[in-house]
Amino acid sequence: MKAVFTAIFLWIFLIAPSWAATANGVWKDIQNADTSHTPLAIHTVGTQAYIAADAILQNSCTTRFFPFRQKWKLQCASNDAYLTADNPFAIYNGQAYFIHGDVLQQGDRFSLPIPQSLPVLDSLTQKQFYWDASTNTLTSLPANDILKMDVSPRSNGTLIEFTFSKEVLVEQFIQMPFLIVNLAGVTLDTAAFRQTYTDGLVLKSSAIQEKNSAQITFTLRNKTDAKLERFTRNGGKTVQIALRPKSTEPSPKTTVAKTSSSKKVQTIVIDPGHGGKDPGALGSFAKEKDITLAVGKLLKVELEKHGFTVKMTRDSDVFVDLKTRPELATKWEGDLFVSLHANAIDAPKKRQKQVNGFKIYILREAQSEEDKALARRENQAVSMSNSGKAKDKNEISPVEWILLEHQLNLYTKESEKFTSHVVKNLTLSNLRKHGSGAGQAGFYVLVGAFMPAVLVELGFITNPKDEKYIASAKGQMEMAKFLAKAIVQYREEHE
Ligand SMILES: [Zn+2]
Repeated sequence: MKAVFTAIFLWIFLIAPSWAATANGVWKDIQNADTSHTPLAIHTVGTQAYIAADAILQNSCTTRFFPFRQKWKLQCASNDAYLTADNPFAIYNGQAYFIHGDVLQQGDRFSLPIPQSLPVLDSLTQKQFYWDASTNTLTSLPANDILKMDVSPRSNGTLIEFTFSKEVLVEQFIQMPFLIVNLAGVTLDTAAFRQTYTDGLVLKSSAIQEKNSAQITFTLRNKTDAKLERFTRNGGKTVQIALRPKSTEPSPKTTVAKTSSSKKVQTIVIDPGHGGKDPGALGSFAKEKDITLAVGKLLKVELEKHGFTVKMTRDSDVFVDLKTRPELATKWEGDLFVSLHANAIDAPKKRQKQVNGFKIYILREAQSEEDKALARRENQAVSMSNSGKAKDKNEISPVEWILLEHQLNLYTKESEKFTSHVVKNLTLSNLRKHGSGAGQAGFYVLVGAFMPAVLVELGFITNPKDEKYIASAKGQMEMAKFLAKAIVQYREEHE
């Protein structure tokens, strides 16, 4: 099976004429990229080099000496190793490991033979040690999960290949003029990825290290739109991303990566929730999809009075899937994404009468069961998608959260700022705050909007008073005015 796959793979990338290589790949050995590290102190006995254990095991590691057995225990996080004086065996996490050299004892301190014990030290410390025998220098780097990155131009596209030290979950997408690659649980040396390429679809690359993930951004040449394909081999340790041009026509505009604070608030994307075959939540007489559309249209008019450019993901009773909505917003280069919804509670009439109010949500993992349930309900439209590939999933998975890390770090602060303006203004309407009026949850409709983004639950359609207000012309006009005011204040705060 593996052989078959490899054969197909070889055919696609090496033998198929259209993919014949036209230039050599830009191979780069990431491991040797960083030379800024100070060498560690080495001492020699005869021709054998040694490193004092103290010099190598800093910070989070501990050593312990057992004098009767002339043994040392080295502990780093959950890994440990036992070493014995004049003994070539190390016991690493309970397994015997032959290190091809003896441990050197100096009183209660000890030294390790170099380079023989480096594999054990690499594993123990989660670093990578490099030994240069010609100069007798030992240096260390934090563990690098990317062993190699290769960007190689082909006759009909560009192939990017990653070789990881472990299985890695990869997510890739195009956000013109960029190809963004998110790598879950990966540590990398960002400086090594700052490169330019002379040939092929990729112009340059750069990388960002987040706490639990890394992101590599490739700037595409000529702004030609590109198609993506991904191939995974070696149990996830090798990942290849094939980029092919979609069309030869250059796109008219260049998207510039927006940092949340440097850009003016000009283009507002209004996203009236649900629509068409998806009515959203139902009240005693009103439908969520009608309320969101009505408020959205009024909000557009209000915002245009204040000089904003306004785009709507829908302006009639049509179904737009959850993935398309933020994609449109990003395509339109929006500065703020506002998704409009109405809340609902599945409960007896008496309880429905008690539960009311508006609440503004940003994209972050939900902290309460109520917010989780709300996100699941709003995410149900995913499975109604027309695309055919949508799965029956209504919750953002832990890995997806990790892959979103960079996006969240970019926009959460601004989304929170905007939220506070909405809460302040909507409080002046006939609606009450639901709880604090602000919350967070995993809404799919906010994933993929590369800008500050919020989801507004206008009120509870299942609450008689709220329903009457949010379904009325007067209520809708007021809500639109208060939302517009919040957006104006947000713009003012920004400038
Ligand atoms: Zn909704």
